[in-house]
Amino acid sequence: MKHGPSSESTIPTVTGFSPGFAALGLEAPLLATLETLGYEEPTPIQREAIPPLLSGRDLLGQAATGTGKTAAFALPMLQRIGHAARVRPSALVLVPTRELAIQVGEAVQRYGKELRVSVLPVYGGQAIGPQLHALKRGVDVIVATPGRALDHIRRGTLKLQEVRTVVLDEADEMLDMGFADDLDAILAGTPKAKQTALFSATIPQRIRAIAHRHLQNPIEITIAKEPVKAGTAPRVQQTAYIAARPHRAAALARVIEVAGANSALVFCRTRLEVDEVTAMLTGRGHRAEAIHGGMSQGQRDRVMQAFKAGQTELLVATDVAARGLDIPQVSHVINYDLPSS
Ligand code: AMP
Repeated sequence: MKHGPSSESTIPTVTGFSPGFAALGLEAPLLATLETLGYEEPTPIQREAIPPLLSGRDLLGQAATGTGKTAAFALPMLQRIGHAARVRPSALVLVPTRELAIQVGEAVQRYGKELRVSVLPVYGGQAIGPQLHALKRGVDVIVATPGRALDHIRRGTLKLQEVRTVVLDEADEMLDMGFADDLDAILAGTPKAKQTALFSATIPQRIRAIAHRHLQNPIEITIAKEPVKAGTAPRVQQTAYIAARPHRAAALARVIEVAGANSALVFCRTRLEVDEVTAMLTGRGHRAEAIHGGMSQGQRDRVMQAFKAGQTELLVATDVAARGLDIPQVSHVINYDLPSS
């Protein structure tokens, strides 16, 4: 289903809450939360995905980050948790990276505040003790990377027999990272009667195969990037510089200085390159920090916080470490190499 340009809404606000969200079937506690968050209208994926998910259908959604996809699956999930007798955990969201586990976990927590739904992010590199403690106490929603989820399942510390909803987020990325077998193993331990939603930026054959194995009669949704209205085109200027390899570092430093980049993401291909570029930029007096999968989770959390808070000017990252992050105030994105995808 392609979503056409939306027509002007003329429905009066009867409830005091967003008529757009109410019309999708969301109820007062969530509407109040959305009001507090300042969400005025659902995004196209939210309009398309929320009603079928509320009705319990499986869903295959093609949508990129930044489309409002997290709320599209989290809001119906939360409402369904609120309606049912509590079982724990009742929902499992699988995501490719630790950063996404944290980000999606925070979003679900925010949306579920009024409903008092508890959320636990579970990812590798994090101390296992507190995870075990929280799992033992019981949480409603687990947001996990596949490797660590499977660890807990094998230890017997994560039991999925009662799970009613499973979401596979950024499924193409999970496959790229080699998690296909882990996904199958995790899903094999969940009840047959459950709701499953799969989101992916692209739907190649291998995603179709996973969907075929794990989704039952899914509704399919494709969300094109928001059509750009005349006069409101995002003012993103794209520039390519051709530099010989030995001159690349100096060229990067020059581009950053000339562009006046005060909050920039610099993508590199390898961890080694991330460290070298960070050292080079720091040496030139920039507040630059590295983020990549070779760092401890504590380091990565600290670096992300500092960047979000504006204490770091330049975040130098491998694309895997930074994929899907939602950082509103980035002024520049620089690919130090040709991006691989
Ligand atoms: P996501 O694609 O889920 O990562 O969401 C991207 C950003 O859009 C996040 O910062 C959300 O808080 C925000 N967002 C999601 N849905 C809406 C909405 N209906 N109105 C305004 N902002 C939204």
